[in-house]
Amino acid sequence: MDWIERVAEIRRWSRGGERAPHKPLLLLYALGRFQRQGNRPIPFSAAEAELKKLLKEYGPSRDTSPGYPFHHLTNDGLWLVETVHGPGSPGAELSRLRESQAAGRLHPDLARALSEEPGLLGRIARYLLDANFAPSLHQDLCLLAGLDLETAEIIPDVKKRRDPRFRDRVLMAYEYCCAFCSYDGWLDGAVVGLDAAHVRWWAFDGPDDVANGLCLCAIHHKLFDKGVLGLTGERAIAVSARFVGRSQSARDMVLSLAGRPARSPQPGLDEVERDHIDWHRHQVFRTPPRG
Ligand SMILES: [Zn+2]
Repeated sequence: MDWIERVAEIRRWSRGGERAPHKPLLLLYALGRFQRQGNRPIPFSAAEAELKKLLKEYGPSRDTSPGYPFHHLTNDGLWLVETVHGPGSPGAELSRLRESQAAGRLHPDLARALSEEPGLLGRIARYLLDANFAPSLHQDLCLLAGLDLETAEIIPDVKKRRDPRFRDRVLMAYEYCCAFCSYDGWLDGAVVGLDAAHVRWWAFDGPDDVANGLCLCAIHHKLFDKGVLGLTGERAIAVSARFVGRSQSARDMVLSLAGRPARSPQPGLDEVERDHIDWHRHQVFRTPPRG
């Protein structure tokens, strides 16, 4: 089996569009370590805090222990864990991983393939990013995971191409205005600072339809993909209670949006579908919303 197929297998059990990025995050982190220091074992004590940060920032809203992927990725033939007692993981419990001085590394077959095949690391990383995270998050995520995208020459996946007309259709539907703040802007006749955001992420079968799109300015797009902002069933803007901003601009750009109706598309064009809003609310939005 091809390595990309084997990496794809780790998503198998995620059903119904539920996000399960724990193992992909560990793998991206391990690939970053591999870039820097080869396949030297990564002590759990060194990885714990960094994994925790990654899970907190890019995992789903519910808390997940870094012990979970560190232990469970061993079932996929991609990752090995050993302790002072010998090979084998002691389990997912933090205390056990700490006390047994567990350390993990990529499976030697995978490490060999990565060394022999230039570009494989980039392809695996690209696959993991595309399959699990909204594109606006890829760069920051790699930075936090310690993965050097330029060295890895990450090449876009050609298998599943996006519809290039999605952006134009969504921007036109919203009359080239941010659906949250009404920002609009043009530079020499070309629209600037506006994106077409997927409500249900493309990685989770979100279609390239206006009914799954929102025209958002760059800052609101980022905050929407990070779960700071969301939509209610009535298409009002939700702001996470976990977001804190003390400046006037944070108040103006974020906090003041809570409860305001999102802009509707032009008459006759599709509003965002309820199912997609529900997916975003459960999988991305950082509950609870502000009152
Ligand atoms: Zn905006």
